[in-house]
Amino acid sequence: MKEHCNHSADCLKMIQLILDGEATDQQLVRVKANLESCRPCIEMYQLEKEVKELLTKRMEKRCCPEQLVATIKSRILSFS
Ligand SMILES: [Zn+2]
Repeated sequence: MKEHCNHSADCLKMIQLILDGEATDQQLVRVKANLESCRPCIEMYQLEKEVKELLTKRMEKRCCPEQLVATIKSRILSFS
């Protein structure tokens, strides 16, 4: 088990892709293999996962339709 990750920027990117459900099968395999051997990556993965879960819960609880509509509108506008 490695105690130091010398590719943490790449690892974080991959972890975020996985948590967003946007990672490819190839990326999933790579990150899984890495998580089994790299302690900082395991911790980073768990932290990111917790943050994401927390944010999701918060959004569910405090979901404000008006705010959501405004966000979507501004996103649509930024595309045009
Ligand atoms: Zn790593």
